Amino acid sequence: MKRSEVNYNDLSPMMQQYMDIKKDYEDVLLFFRLGDFYELFFEDAEVTSRELELTLTGKNAGLKERVPMCGVPHHSAKGYIEKLVNKSYKVALVEQLEDPKNTKGMVKRGVVQVFSKGTIVDLEYLDSKNSNYIGSVSDEINEYLITYADISTGELYSEALIHDKDKLINEIINLNLKEVLITNDFDISLLNILKNNYNINITISDKLLEDKYSNCYRNINDDRVIKGIKHLFYYLSVIELNDLDHMNEVKIVKRDNYLNMDVHTIRNLELFETLRLKERQYSLIWLLDKTKTAMGARTLKNMLMHPLKDIKLINERLDIVEKLNNEFLHRENLRNNLYEVYDLERLCGKVICGSLNARDLLQIKRSLSVLPNIIDIVKSLGFDYEISDHRELYELLEKSIYEEPPITIKEGYLIKTGYNSELDELKELRCGGKEFISTLEQAEREKTGISNLKVGFNKVFGYYIEVSRGQLDKVKDEYGWERRQTLTNAERFITPTLKEKEALVLNAEERIIDLEYNLFMEIKSKVKEAIGELKKTAYILSLLDVYASLSIVSEEYKLIRPNLVSERNVLIKDGFHPVVECVSKFEYVKNDIIMDESINTLLITGPNMSGKSTYMRQFAITIILAQMGSFVPASSATLPIFDSIFTRIGASDDLVGGESTFMVEMLEARNAIVNATANSLILFDELGRGTATFDGLSIAQSILEYVDSNIKCKTMFSTHYHELTSLENNHSTIKNVHVEAVDNDGVITFLHKVCDGAVDKSYGIHVASLAKMPDSVIRRASEILNIYESDKSKKEIVERSEQISFTFENKESEVEKELKNIDIMKITPIDAINILYKLQDKLKK
Ligand code: ADP
Repeated sequence: MKRSEVNYNDLSPMMQQYMDIKKDYEDVLLFFRLGDFYELFFEDAEVTSRELELTLTGKNAGLKERVPMCGVPHHSAKGYIEKLVNKSYKVALVEQLEDPKNTKGMVKRGVVQVFSKGTIVDLEYLDSKNSNYIGSVSDEINEYLITYADISTGELYSEALIHDKDKLINEIINLNLKEVLITNDFDISLLNILKNNYNINITISDKLLEDKYSNCYRNINDDRVIKGIKHLFYYLSVIELNDLDHMNEVKIVKRDNYLNMDVHTIRNLELFETLRLKERQYSLIWLLDKTKTAMGARTLKNMLMHPLKDIKLINERLDIVEKLNNEFLHRENLRNNLYEVYDLERLCGKVICGSLNARDLLQIKRSLSVLPNIIDIVKSLGFDYEISDHRELYELLEKSIYEEPPITIKEGYLIKTGYNSELDELKELRCGGKEFISTLEQAEREKTGISNLKVGFNKVFGYYIEVSRGQLDKVKDEYGWERRQTLTNAERFITPTLKEKEALVLNAEERIIDLEYNLFMEIKSKVKEAIGELKKTAYILSLLDVYASLSIVSEEYKLIRPNLVSERNVLIKDGFHPVVECVSKFEYVKNDIIMDESINTLLITGPNMSGKSTYMRQFAITIILAQMGSFVPASSATLPIFDSIFTRIGASDDLVGGESTFMVEMLEARNAIVNATANSLILFDELGRGTATFDGLSIAQSILEYVDSNIKCKTMFSTHYHELTSLENNHSTIKNVHVEAVDNDGVITFLHKVCDGAVDKSYGIHVASLAKMPDSVIRRASEILNIYESDKSKKEIVERSEQISFTFENKESEVEKELKNIDIMKITPIDAINILYKLQDKLKK
């Protein structure tokens, strides 16, 4: 049964209420609270029962048929919601908004919280090492504008992009936006790509949030930027019901300030995950990340994503890393202190829009406790960072928050004794209650002579004196006890004194919980006031963490400080690929990369598997590391500043959908050619191999000539087309290099050494045999190759004169057949020996 097909007027009042709420939350799964359950109806129930493997039942809703329904207990809803959000659904919680005791008729219900991928603030559901961005995208005719925010930390950015669909998609993927908000008139094809190819949550909304949180754009004059923020904020605060008081002032991102890398480059170079397994392990960030805090890990990722172009700024970063290298004792001390720092940024976010508890406040306190040490270290290092010690806040938390609080803030045990006198008095009363119980018990036992008499207290019946059935005759009327409750083996009584006491103690417990809650909220609001300063501190700590991490990495992997120059000179001595070097079982062969002003292109030849693409990748990674402010893998490195890196390496995902491998290869090559400037770096790995030999060769040559003569940027071009190596003769800007391999009587050894000049052999057949291709296929390939090599003009296929009879090694041999046919249970030991002898004899022959 579909929701759209039912007649509203036929529905029960409860279901009408459901329908009223649901119409504002069309694309959200509505968890409708009824008693101890959240229930879902109609299509929501169908989807949820399928996704969570719950039973789909029905509910009477006034119609002839029952409406589809499924439900989850409210106390375990969190886990279910998390699963749905991970699967890219949005979930809204509908709760009772008034107390049923004080209401006649239907209780008012409404949405109190919305969960979606881009707006999670609970630390336990967030990936601590990654930002969690949600963005709004608008089409401004000449430009696209992306406004994006991480509401767990309060970061807010605005970025304008040229009006190019691929670039927009590229940026959305690079930023890893979890949710994208667009307006109704947005290009539908783009929307589909984002949704279908990249599984990004898309929401359509046209409304803007006026007159609220305008602090976030108080210094902005550009109306488009303001509109973008209002668009995003409407969704976040009105639809998703988030408090945005903690959002930072918007930062305008100028892409031009950073080294530009597209999605392919980031993937091909395995900056954040490996190509094959899509895992962080063995990626560049995996190698670089020795940070001690989650904030540091995120900032490091951000820096790797955005290497700089300004030599001065890069050198400032390198100075800090160098200083930390020289002052390693301070560095170790700094890292030990940073180890005590929790995710302050996200804790600040939680103060505003999450369910902050006392444990979070303790984490803030512990983080603040190391600030005086960190300030001292920073001073000793001579760094120019102003860090507040937040003493006032620290002391407040130190004297107020109880050291072992529960997760909830509605059960008490949040506030330390000594912080509030009223609370202390109430606590004494509560304790007095317990003391009172044992004193009374003692006294009553003595008075009545009932040795197993018990005095107790429970929340339903209050105080009682319990006497076992066998002792009941000892209870005398003169005591004035009233019967309160009968149990199987005992009777419970109450006395007037107990009643009085009961009122006081019961009250104390409740009042303690209320008071602790109120005190907690007061402390929380003091933390809230300090959030601006806390965030500044958090950011500086994250930077210090990153620099300390870069310093450790430079020491561990023997990296050196690059020398950045404004000329177009590349001079890398003994360079290496840091991840391959770290992971490989074999010794890494270090290589120079030398491209002075006069050289634009290195044309790299060499056998497959010899290390051509590793050599190219190592160059790009060296540049990225240098420009992000890290030391680099080499014994010395002089490098110019690059504006972009374009790569065409290996197979890659298809951005537009449905294109052939060769088409994708060409699209990526075009992207490089169209966008590269003289200051870019292009890496082309075996360009043209996706099509027929002569086709590929012609395209490769023409692209190579175009890049070398027109764009004139630094380019590395690896190829199997040996014909291309003759280009060096007529182009002084092209230089041949090759990766060496030696052939000792057919046994090929890869030396991984890059030397000047070209090779004229590709050893493809050798690699095929390394891959354990059947011997007969290898033999035949060598035979064909010999014919082609002896007659270079030969273009038609070399046919085999006699009948081809490949003997594949995986065909069953005679010996194997015989072995299989033996019935072991029917032969004697002597037969077995004889058969074995015969088989071995056969094999020997
Ligand atoms: P190609 O691009 O020539 O086919 P790759 O660059 O993919 O070859 O390298 C193949 C393998 O050789 C790499 O996975 C790596 O393990 C190893 N390798 C590459 N370069 C080196 C080197 N300089 N020193 C040691 N091993 C290397």
